[in-house]
Amino acid sequence: MTGLPRAILFDLDDTLIRAYAQPEEAWTRLLNFFAAHLDAQGAEAIERVRQAIMEEARAFWSDRAEAAKWRLDIPGARRLSVRRGLARLGYRDETLADHIADAFTELRRAEYRLYPDAHATVDALRQRGVKLALVTNGAAEFQRAKIERFELGHRFDHIQIEGEFGMGKPEPDVYRHALGRLGCDACDAWMVGDNYEWEVEAPQKLGLCGIWYDPFDAGIPAHATAKPTRVIRRLAELLE
Ligand SMILES: [Mg+2]
Repeated sequence: MTGLPRAILFDLDDTLIRAYAQPEEAWTRLLNFFAAHLDAQGAEAIERVRQAIMEEARAFWSDRAEAAKWRLDIPGARRLSVRRGLARLGYRDETLADHIADAFTELRRAEYRLYPDAHATVDALRQRGVKLALVTNGAAEFQRAKIERFELGHRFDHIQIEGEFGMGKPEPDVYRHALGRLGCDACDAWMVGDNYEWEVEAPQKLGLCGIWYDPFDAGIPAHATAKPTRVIRRLAELLE
């Protein structure tokens, strides 16, 4: 077992499954369905709506306290962002806004995909004796549904969902609890995921190795306060 740690904590969304990454294309596609309702003629008009919605969403999620609360109700948060985005452009129909937000939630859910090397990588790590935890933020019901849909439950020694545990990343106790359940010290563990703050900066402060998953080659964020132990573009690189 050279090079591998005693335990690995995995993120779920946009690490094992592709869930919310690169939303621009999905928004454009969805808004085209609603072009008539929005009286938005042509690509430019659709683009204006997309930008307004996505800017409101970014502003919404940038408030830490609000984000921690709304992570447990993503569809509700999405309704608020779409309402605000449309209001900015002069639309006053909140029912239409909610309808669009809910359609986006459904579109995303329908398009969740397991990353192709996820099962094989996780299974190979476990076979090599690495203890595995799945540590995910979000609502219990939503996250459990994904875990079941993508046959992940039996692949992990411990599963920890924010909505069940009562606390989410980047709270230090989230990582400590998972390590405790795996019977492993921080210095013998990796955290793997796509969120720089949650999966690199916070765990590294506790002594874990932060492995940043960067499948779209986005590069280390400009505001980064720590350097990841390692950057991977594919999950299978963990086995190399
Ligand atoms: Mg993630």
